[in-house]
Amino acid sequence: MDKIYDVIIVGSGPAGMFAAERLSGENLSVLVVERGDEPSLRTDMNFGIGGAGTFSDGKLNLTSKIGGDPTSFGRTDEEIEQLIQKVDDVFNSVGAEGGYSGLSDMGSMELKRKAHSAGVEFIYAKQRHIGTDVLHIIIDRFYRKLAAEKNIQFSKNDRVKDIKKKDDLFFIETEQSKYWGKYLIAAPGRAGSYWLREQVKNLGVQTSYGPIDVGIRVEFPYEIYDKIATVMYDAKFRLYTKSFDDLVRTFCTNPRGFITKEVYDEFVLVNGHAKRDHKTVNTNFALLSRVSLTNPVEDSTAYGRDIARMAMTIGGGKPIIQRLSDLLNGRRSTWGRLAKSAITPTLMDVTPGDIGMVFPHRIVRNLIEGITVLDEIISGLLSNNTFLYAPEIKFYDTNYHVTPYMETTCKNFFVAGDASGHSRGIVYAAVTGIVAAEGVLVK
Ligand SMILES: Cc1cc2nc3c(=O)[nH]c(=O)nc-3n(C[C@H](O)[C@H](O)[C@H](O)COP(=O)(O)OP(=O)(O)OC[C@H]3O[C@@H](n4cnc5c(N)ncnc54)[C@H](O)[C@@H]3O)c2cc1C
Repeated sequence: MDKIYDVIIVGSGPAGMFAAERLSGENLSVLVVERGDEPSLRTDMNFGIGGAGTFSDGKLNLTSKIGGDPTSFGRTDEEIEQLIQKVDDVFNSVGAEGGYSGLSDMGSMELKRKAHSAGVEFIYAKQRHIGTDVLHIIIDRFYRKLAAEKNIQFSKNDRVKDIKKKDDLFFIETEQSKYWGKYLIAAPGRAGSYWLREQVKNLGVQTSYGPIDVGIRVEFPYEIYDKIATVMYDAKFRLYTKSFDDLVRTFCTNPRGFITKEVYDEFVLVNGHAKRDHKTVNTNFALLSRVSLTNPVEDSTAYGRDIARMAMTIGGGKPIIQRLSDLLNGRRSTWGRLAKSAITPTLMDVTPGDIGMVFPHRIVRNLIEGITVLDEIISGLLSNNTFLYAPEIKFYDTNYHVTPYMETTCKNFFVAGDASGHSRGIVYAAVTGIVAAEGVLVK
């Protein structure tokens, strides 16, 4: 039989890399199998060492309140806060510098007051912004440290096709090779979550369906958000809509940033980022409407994928852009109508269209109500100058039943990161990776 690794990690996003970091120095043979290339060579947004976050601007939510729920995997806020500090320390050790916000309660008072009077919850917390122009350099350093100094073996450009369990060992078949491992940490991220879900069906791994978030990127002149950004770089607002009592929330705000495409095998979504040094005159954030499906149809992934494919059809293979005023008036946007706005889109590889033709009525209503209410806090949002891009969809749908160490119902099979359904962002993904690694060490 070929070599048996102590631990095989599938995927080297923050979850996989921080799991590897935690396992290093423990006299274990650790193999990380990664579908994409190393940071300095990769061209793909989602796949490659560093994961989906590599070309993001690295907004680190340094709080247990954002990006996950400790109780969903049997942990306390205090435990998670300690692990978050460790994650931040690792970023510092590979050269991340400064960029903190959300440190002074004084600055948040006016925003909290405005949010309360609009019936909105403002989640105030410590954050850090690294910047798109800097993060990939930091990740590259982290990767080299793991590979050169910490004895972690990486198999790059090597997609895992199949996971099987034979007796007490895991048998992993990849595009390049076959591997055996005693413990498995699966961390293939959002882009790999659908694949993983299909894989684990035969391994006795129990999962349930969770909600997804469906919505848009909202882009507007930076001046109307500037004051808020000094209080909290990526301010989180949550509200429940009057019409349906559905949760609508802002997510991933990019002051003076860019809209970008998030390309998957079957469809294209939108996302956003901001550089540390090169600023635009626009700010953007995601506005998302929560969708939970109940009996008899619970598969929210399938629903989200159908919406994404519908958007592909309407957009001719590209994301859709629409002026807010065109959506409100029930007409599609054209390049001519977009030109009447006082700002220019930061993403031009889009199709002017009608978001009302893509999303179900309930989601469109929720999003419009969300913008209307948020205009009371971000004055000037409800304007002719505002652009909307669709679709932005967050698939956190498959929720793995796990122990406090992220071990699934299949013995020695751990999950971590966004594919686990227990994280929604770089920091929580990293935390669940550390927790899974500690689970292996405990055993
Ligand atoms: C454009 C963009 C901007 C973002 N900005 C932020 C931000 O500012 N702050 C924040 O907190 N979050 C941000 N996010 C989200 C963040 O990147 C993710 O939450 C985080 O990367 C999840 O980490 P992960 O390790 O679970 O998965 P990922 O980072 O997705 O990594 C999974 C890895 O697994 C690999 N993989 C998948 N399938 C296989 C397979 N079959 N075989 C081998 N390897 C496989 C993939 O190639 C990938 O490298 C952003 C995401 C995007 C796309």
